[in-house]
Amino acid sequence: MLFKKNFTQESVNGVRMGNGSISFQGIKLNVHSFYLDGVLIDSGGRSLAKQFMPFFKELEIEQIVISHYHEDHTGCAALLQREQNVPIWMNDRMIDYCKKKPDYPMYRQLYWGRRPPFQAEPIGDSFTSANALWKVIKTPGHSQDHLAFLNSETGQLFTGDLYCQEKTKVVLREESIPDIIESLQTVLTYDFTDAFCSHAGYLHEGRMALKRKLEYLLDLQGKIIELYHEGKTPKQINETLFPKKYPIIRFSSGEWNSLHIVHSVLKEYQEVSL
Ligand SMILES: [Zn+2]
Repeated sequence: MLFKKNFTQESVNGVRMGNGSISFQGIKLNVHSFYLDGVLIDSGGRSLAKQFMPFFKELEIEQIVISHYHEDHTGCAALLQREQNVPIWMNDRMIDYCKKKPDYPMYRQLYWGRRPPFQAEPIGDSFTSANALWKVIKTPGHSQDHLAFLNSETGQLFTGDLYCQEKTKVVLREESIPDIIESLQTVLTYDFTDAFCSHAGYLHEGRMALKRKLEYLLDLQGKIIELYHEGKTPKQINETLFPKKYPIIRFSSGEWNSLHIVHSVLKEYQEVSL
């Protein structure tokens, strides 16, 4: 099959960034790994191991931290563990899941390959590297185990998949918009300057970018609830707010869909108003 793979690397304000991408049938996906002060944040997708591994070999990795269990963030963890024998830290919620062979849908296996099992250790509320204390910030919403990492020395925040893009139009079935809103509010209580997103990369004026996303989601949430009060069904609300049908919806057989945005907002709203 015709997959086009690409890899670029750069340094921004002392952070080494590796960015791997893969495109197939007009859909292009990418993911970053970041390195700073002996810490590798996320390990790329297994399908891009040939691209990511030479980049990892140039770094002096002392420990690996994982933002969340998804296969584009954990794909080379087993390889790294075998070759470099370094500890891997992640939210304990998904450690057992990552010990097993993956069970995600075929289209994800096509893009990112099959993530080999690996053994991670539970991360605490903070950890240290040679020159810094890092805060581990629980930021569920994209996934239940999602974490952001703040280097308190440099004020650089690594947001995993909390941001991705400002104007979210489609999300995974497992995502919760109300939880993402809360997580954005949580990270904004911390002192940081730069932000690094696993997909968008370096976010220029990161704090502002995260604030804009928060505003967008709050506005969207308000609109969904308003339409619900007008008596519209989730499907009608979806068609009103997201008229465009994105290729990923069909390609993923609906695992990605804008309808999940509507459902997650209404689910929380109904629970709160009961
Ligand atoms: Zn993810």
